[in-house]
Amino acid sequence: MAERSPTGALKDCPKCKGRGFIPAVSLLQGGVSCPCIDTYLRERNLDTVWMSLGQTVIGKETKAIPASLKDKSCRITTTRPVFQSYLKKFVLEQPHAWSCKVRTDAELLDAWFGTAKAQGVKIFDLDIEGSDIPAIDIRDLVVPFDLCIIWLGVKTLPNKEAPGALLEAINYRAHVGKPTWVVDQPTKVLDASHLYFSMEAAEMFSTWPHLVLSKNKVDLKKKTALVEAPPKQETTTSITNKMLEELVQNADRRKTKR
Ligand SMILES: [Zn+2]
Repeated sequence: MAERSPTGALKDCPKCKGRGFIPAVSLLQGGVSCPCIDTYLRERNLDTVWMSLGQTVIGKETKAIPASLKDKSCRITTTRPVFQSYLKKFVLEQPHAWSCKVRTDAELLDAWFGTAKAQGVKIFDLDIEGSDIPAIDIRDLVVPFDLCIIWLGVKTLPNKEAPGALLEAINYRAHVGKPTWVVDQPTKVLDASHLYFSMEAAEMFSTWPHLVLSKNKVDLKKKTALVEAPPKQETTTSITNKMLEELVQNADRRKTKR
C-alpha cells in the first residue's frame, strides 16, 4: 500500500510531494488541496456523515444523484440500503471540505424536547420522559453542515410536536440559505398519515424536486396537486440522469418565475 504522510497525503505524490497542498503561483492566492488527500479524507470521514456509511458497498447498479442537488432542498423516497449506496457514491464525489450529516427524525424531536425539559416543561412522551436528554437546540443539530439530510421513519410513538420539529429544522436551514434533503421510505411515505406530516410541510415539498431511488434507477416524481388527500395513484417516469438534471433545473426556473 502506498505510504501516506501524517496529513494523509501520498508521500510520493507527483503533484504535492506529500504535502497534500498545491500552492498557487503567488502565496496571496492561496492554493488548493491535492486530489490525493481529498479522496483519502472523504473516505475516512464517511462515518461522520452517517454511521456505517464507510462499510456500505456501493451497488453495481447504483446511479448518480444529480450533482446540482448538492445545493438544493429535495425530497427523496427510498429504502435505507439503497439510500446508503447512493449517498456514499454522492459524498465521495464532493470536495472534502464539504460537510454533510444525516439526522433522524427521532433526534430532531429529542432536541426539541431536550430544550423544553431544560426549561422545566413537563414532557408527555414515554420515549423521551424517562431518558436523560441533553439540551441541544435543533439549530445546533442541523445548521452547521453544508447539507443536512433528515431520515424519517425512526420515531414511531405518536407525538403532536413531531411536525413542528421537522418544520423547525428545515426553516432554520432555509434561513441561512442551506439545503435540506428529507428522506422517507416507500413503506412509510410522508403523507397525511405520517407522524411528521403537516400542511405547511406539504406545501413546501410541493415546490421541491421529489426523487424516488431504487436499486438501479432514479425517478423524478411528477408533481401532484397539493395534498388534500393522499393521491390514489402516483406516477413516476424512468429517465436518464441528464434528463433529470434538466428537469430539476426547469423546476427551479418555474419556481423563480412565480
Ligand atoms: Zn498529492
